[in-house]
Amino acid sequence: MLYLTRKIEFAAAHVCRRPEWPDEQNRRVYGACAIGSGHGHDYVCDVTVKGPIDPRTGMVVNLVEVNRTMKAVVGVLNATHLNDDHPAFQERVPTTEWLTLVLWDRLQPHLERCLLHRIRLQESRTRVVEYRGEGSMVYVTRRIEFNAAHRLHSAVLSDEENAEVFGKCNSPNGHGHNYELEVTVRGPVDERTGTVIDLEHLDKVLEEEVMARYDHKNLNVDVEEFRTLNPTSEMFARVIWDRLAVRLADPPRALYRVRLVETSKNAFEYYGEQEP
Ligand SMILES: [Zn+2]
Ligand SMILES: [Zn+2]
Repeated sequence: MLYLTRKIEFAAAHVCRRPEWPDEQNRRVYGACAIGSGHGHDYVCDVTVKGPIDPRTGMVVNLVEVNRTMKAVVGVLNATHLNDDHPAFQERVPTTEWLTLVLWDRLQPHLERCLLHRIRLQESRTRVVEYRGEGSMVYVTRRIEFNAAHRLHSAVLSDEENAEVFGKCNSPNGHGHNYELEVTVRGPVDERTGTVIDLEHLDKVLEEEVMARYDHKNLNVDVEEFRTLNPTSEMFARVIWDRLAVRLADPPRALYRVRLVETSKNAFEYYGEQEP
């Protein structure tokens, strides 16, 4: 089986609000997407298809055909208001979760020579939704940034061994990074809200468990866990996982992945005990 990904972008307006709910409830579920009469996003949609290679052509599917279908199904959303211009969203709230499910249902019948594998829809740099055709189960990723200092040093190694293993990162007074953290929650899309998790709840958990603990801190000195643990990004990703997994456990909804980007060259992913 071979996997191919084709990207398409569109700019669309939307507002996420249920008119029968008070402002406070809409704000809790949809965050800033509930405000006013609308706003817009530059959506980036990656469609991944899969199939065996056709020995005659050497291709799985002609990407020109896939592109034509994507333009017809996804491209038509460009320069429109999702709520006002598309009947499908007049009864449903046009959340990115819901939009991803709709696009899947619309794309699938047109892809005859291959199978849909995944749709990844980026609403903004801080929010991405992914669907893999698993019923109503959707993956929602929230991205945050924080800054922290650390020094890599293992208590069970000698000073010479520490210097050799960690190099500059063992520098006695430490150094720092602009960390990026992507937190992915997997769960069914709620029929009423069109979301997997209340945005305000997720942001509150990230604020309390990540930002308040680690932002503008010296990990070795200011953070309880790292008084004994070496604050490598591997350990850090696992520590963050352990804290978030407890707070976000709400079966069948659960934390799926933590991805910690230490520098533009190093990224660390942790999925708990499960395989990705
Ligand atoms: Zn929005
Ligand atoms: Zn470092």
